[in-house]
Amino acid sequence: MHHTESIEAIRHHVTSARAAGRRVVFVPTMGALHAGHLRLLDVAATHGDEIVLSIFVNPLQFAPHEDLTRYPRPLEHDLVLAAARGATLCFLPTTATMYPMGMRTTVRPGPIADRWEGASRPGHFEGVLTVVAKLLHIVTPDVAVFGRKDIQQATLIRQMVEDLDMPVTIIVEPTVRESNGLALSSRNAFLSPPERADALAISAGLRAARAAWQGGERSAARLRDAIEEVLRRVPTVTPDYIAIIEPTGMTPVDLAPRGTIIAIAARVGATRLIDNTILGVGDI
Ligand code: AMP
Repeated sequence: MHHTESIEAIRHHVTSARAAGRRVVFVPTMGALHAGHLRLLDVAATHGDEIVLSIFVNPLQFAPHEDLTRYPRPLEHDLVLAAARGATLCFLPTTATMYPMGMRTTVRPGPIADRWEGASRPGHFEGVLTVVAKLLHIVTPDVAVFGRKDIQQATLIRQMVEDLDMPVTIIVEPTVRESNGLALSSRNAFLSPPERADALAISAGLRAARAAWQGGERSAARLRDAIEEVLRRVPTVTPDYIAIIEPTGMTPVDLAPRGTIIAIAARVGATRLIDNTILGVGDI
């Protein structure tokens, strides 16, 4: 696996790969790689030959009070994991490489960005879409793979690619979890052992809603009750939002047909975690 901080080196490498007939697949990350990221690399390998990973903790998507400076950065370990999992090229830009002029031109997301994660983290999705647009222009992949764990992000990325005619196929993969249900996240590293146990309430809440839905419950209010009942038992877990929403505009529903998304953000101690499920689809 080659790794480089340089945009020119990435462009050169990708141009040669394409000239040799290789399909280019891209997995953007912020590093601190876990089995969720590695699963995206596995999926990438089924779509092409040149598997490009990026690791960049994008300052544009963090608000001043958020965890940018303490975000985990185990770079050497990440490189070993990525190479072992089939990445062929790793892009490790610095902030100066990505934003030599600071924040100047940005991508303004559509109205979905004002809800849920966007309401709690103003400017977050503008930062995300700006960096993803830049990365897609640098890497020029045929296919890019994202995780459903960040479902609002994935929806906004799909919209950007469609609205701005970006020539890339977007793939969104289900969330990888620990066997106890906890969604893998780089931020899980911040959890103390008791917090890690408490954090299970988030996926347990989603499971309770799924079970109610599978039992025939379609009222969003009662699905929310099922989640809140689970969360109430664990006072260290403070929900930020419980969104029961349709997938197109991510607006709240009263009745929840198949395909309805339930997305949760909650604080566990000082750590903010997100998770979601799609009713009638997949597992949890
Ligand atoms: P991050 O490094 O957290 O920015 O995530 C990089 C990519 O990995 C994004 O597309 C995420 O949605 C995806 N991802 C993060 N956690 C998981 C997970 N548990 N399962 C699958 N994909 C994930």
